[in-house]
Amino acid sequence: MEISYQSTRGGEAGVTASQAILKGLAADGGLFMPSFIPKLDKSMKEFSLMTYQETAYEVMKLFLTDYTEAELKSCIAKAYDSKFDTEEIAPLSKANGAYYLELYHGSTIAFKDMALSILPHLMTTSAKKNKVNNKIVILAATSGDTGKAAMAGFADVEGTEIIVFYPKDGVSPVQELQMVTQKGDNTHVAAIHGNFDDAQTGVKKIFGDKAFAELLEEKGYQLSSANSINIGRLVPQIVYYVYAYAKLLSSEEIKDGEEINVTVPTGNFGNILAAYFAKLMGTPIKNLICASNENKVLFDFFQTGTYDRNRDFILTTSPSMDILISSNLERLIYLSTGCDGSANADLMNSLGENGNYSVNGEMKEKMNGFIGGFASEAENKAVIKKLFEDTGYLIDTHTGVASAVYNKYKEETKDDTKTIIASTASPYKFSRSVLEAMEGNQETEDEFQIIDHLSNVSGVLVPQAVEEIRTAVVRHTTVCDADQMKEAVLNFLD
Ligand SMILES: *Cc1c(COP(=O)(O)O)cnc(C)c1O
Repeated sequence: MEISYQSTRGGEAGVTASQAILKGLAADGGLFMPSFIPKLDKSMKEFSLMTYQETAYEVMKLFLTDYTEAELKSCIAKAYDSKFDTEEIAPLSKANGAYYLELYHGSTIAFKDMALSILPHLMTTSAKKNKVNNKIVILAATSGDTGKAAMAGFADVEGTEIIVFYPKDGVSPVQELQMVTQKGDNTHVAAIHGNFDDAQTGVKKIFGDKAFAELLEEKGYQLSSANSINIGRLVPQIVYYVYAYAKLLSSEEIKDGEEINVTVPTGNFGNILAAYFAKLMGTPIKNLICASNENKVLFDFFQTGTYDRNRDFILTTSPSMDILISSNLERLIYLSTGCDGSANADLMNSLGENGNYSVNGEMKEKMNGFIGGFASEAENKAVIKKLFEDTGYLIDTHTGVASAVYNKYKEETKDDTKTIIASTASPYKFSRSVLEAMEGNQETEDEFQIIDHLSNVSGVLVPQAVEEIRTAVVRHTTVCDADQMKEAVLNFLD
């Protein structure tokens, strides 16, 4: 059945999947949502016999209905190949009774690879289908991982330019090195003075600037987004939740139909929203445990029904979750209004103007399956250390937040439902923080000494993505203020 896409703010509807992916954001500032959520048309038994690529096709075909079978399969084949260091693509590891879904086996060793390996192919296929002749300029704001994964995906892809903005002091050294050494003539990076929200707000402003769009149009460019506001990010992320459930079934860890819980370390609310979509499609998922770090705006929201970004922005050791405006929450809000674009737009305007909004009882009721939790820096450190000491299993600081929140949830509720924890980055992306969790403060400044030390202590091999940046040349040195992002875009394109 054909699905069309509509804006969460009511201003745009009847958009095809390929057009929605190409546009990134709706013209009224809203996010694209499917006109309905399709049901899986294969059983979990059938999924349990499928490869990752086969699962991806069966899930994505239900949303991307204007792509032909050949187009979609070609995109999937190009995305999920030997760039991943395991044929399983997203393997599960059991430790201390939970199942860690490792989403960091792609080329930039964070979960953003799961969607950003395929987004460039979906986008260039869409440009062909829709006879677009402009060059596509991808703008991305990043808290560290999206930027690298998007550049790796789009580097030297014909007909595209990619521009990434990251907060100068808000990413890990490995994240920064990965970005500033990125190869490809069409890749551009700027550090901004500000935090991730400043970068994201700046990018959204550029998207909403009609005069700027016309100026770019004259030069033969049009903008699109690689952030998780793009529905082309969300759909590929649903795949691994279906896949993981099916893998638990085939390895007889669960019975067919048995409900599981999913815990996700959350920032922009994209990953956990994908899990919710998997649930709505028919994957037996009970609770979605939304794990925040000390920037616990989502915890407070699920607790009280009030979203309030008026608070201090805290820099933590899980920088990819240092976010106060979780963009994808808008999609959940929209669903919980019964898909009422104008009601949602009112709330989002309030967020823009006052920094807060409250949902009513009926809406809150509809979000019942979500449970908020948060972990302090100390709790995060402690869980990384303990998990390693108990089991030899090493996790990064984002997965640590999820793990700590899950442990607290289990202790408080005694809910022993089998649980998947989304493991979103390789520990080597945050080596210093992980090592300090295990051994206390480190004297040395040198990032690569830390990396080698971590490898010695843990016995976990240093991934290729980290080896590559040991000697790579820095190619990108632009730094600008958050209010100069438009000028930076023009400079990069000229
Ligand atoms: C982006 C990111 C997150 C947060 O994911 P959202 O989809 O933004 O909620 C968590 N952990 C890591 C390592 C990330 O890169």
